Amino acid sequence: MSIMSMTAVELGSKIRKREISVEEAVKASLAQVKKMEVKVHSFVTVDEEGALKRAQKVQKLIDEGLISGPLAGVPAAVKDNLCTAGLRTTCSSKILENFVPSYTAEAVQCLERSGAVIIGKTNMDEFAMGSTTETSYYGVTKNPWNLEHVPGGSSGGSCAAAAAEECSYALGSDTGGSIRQPSSFCGVVGIKPTYGTVSRYGLIAYASSLDQIGPIARNVTDCAAVLEMIAAHDVKDSTSVPRKSYDFMGALVDDVRGLRIGIPQDYFTEGLDEEVKEHILSAAKVLEERGASVEMFDLSLVQYAVPAYYVIACAEAGSNLSRFDGVKYGYRAGHYEGLHDMYKRSRSEGFGAEVKRRIMLGSFVLSSGYYDAYYLKALKTKALIKQAFDKAFEKYDIIAAPVSPSAAPKLGKSLSDPLKMYLSDIYTISVNLAGLPGISIPVGTNKEGLPVGMQLIGNCYEERKLLRAAYTFEQTRVYERPGVVKMGGEA
Ligand code: GLN
Repeated sequence: MSIMSMTAVELGSKIRKREISVEEAVKASLAQVKKMEVKVHSFVTVDEEGALKRAQKVQKLIDEGLISGPLAGVPAAVKDNLCTAGLRTTCSSKILENFVPSYTAEAVQCLERSGAVIIGKTNMDEFAMGSTTETSYYGVTKNPWNLEHVPGGSSGGSCAAAAAEECSYALGSDTGGSIRQPSSFCGVVGIKPTYGTVSRYGLIAYASSLDQIGPIARNVTDCAAVLEMIAAHDVKDSTSVPRKSYDFMGALVDDVRGLRIGIPQDYFTEGLDEEVKEHILSAAKVLEERGASVEMFDLSLVQYAVPAYYVIACAEAGSNLSRFDGVKYGYRAGHYEGLHDMYKRSRSEGFGAEVKRRIMLGSFVLSSGYYDAYYLKALKTKALIKQAFDKAFEKYDIIAAPVSPSAAPKLGKSLSDPLKMYLSDIYTISVNLAGLPGISIPVGTNKEGLPVGMQLIGNCYEERKLLRAAYTFEQTRVYERPGVVKMGGEA
């Protein structure tokens, strides 16, 4: 078995046993990047020199017994909206083309403290706004299962990199589905933790009340291991919540007896692809056969999630992105007359179309006279959605649902109709509005050979139940490798 086709935990264990050196692991990762990037383009920046240097340092720390975690020395990638000191962080935007942060995001520091070697920064939709990774200023990322299709978004680069075995695992961020949806499209596992579980310090904000960082890997065990590394209370993030336990690996038990699973029937209406529907229902059946109880129920309010989300997310984005003004960060227009013109031109030239659309929408819903009609109403809707979930969790431990209405669309198909693209977030965004944890796991492939994921949603702080159910399901499957990887990069 090649180094990069091992799971992160397997590779970590071989590194600990000195069967593979950190340098060998990092070199294998960089070689795979070289092979795959021409096809897939998962990365905005690959830090070859930094990673090789770091490999030496981590090996020394392991040899001296100073670090011994399960993923010490294992090569990882992080989404390009996570600040990395000394390493360019662009958010896939022109406006941050030359931005080199002076500090590292807390989640990335957590990885580094556990001995991770970061090999690069992954491509994403500009400022995490999108569902396809096509709004990146640095070009599109392609789906390793079929290079004519999108990898999903906005963490498309992280998911494609994990699927294409360019790294052993990656970090993404999820504001409305950006970890779960590309994980589903790329056939990998992704977790959006309960809001407040992973520090957002150093994550370039999109919509702060919804953003969460989470792990992406090729199996459930690896995701649990990464979550254990990054989940921690952090005083630098005022929304960080101290939790009673950070033991996630302990939840990896092949047993779902007694788990009550609810399937929202209002998710199975018009618009959901027939093959996706069948995959979700048969995956739920597998869990039922393993001892869980499964039934359909009415979640309600589903049709309000998309409008509420886009009002809140754009309002927060409009406010968060006001800091990019040509003065403090990144790009400044070459020609301007006076301060206001400089702001205007820098922002007009620095931001892409999708980001501008959202800033305008956000400014509109926050403007006086419209605030009550849109923003306040969206906040009230958000509270009602949370109540609907609270009610569901009185009866169920887990909600099983689709991740996206379809498998990965073809490149170029989604951006022409942004409203339709927004609607495709219907199954993921209410999880962020309610602050809940969600996981996406591969459950099969469609007729075109593209992966389909199932989403499991839990009540706040109940990631362990999700991991247990996901792990149990995974035991019934063999991990499938994407076409481009199976063909050694030749697909
Ligand atoms: N597709 C959603 C959006 O564009 C979600 C993005 C995300 O989770 N970052 O807002």
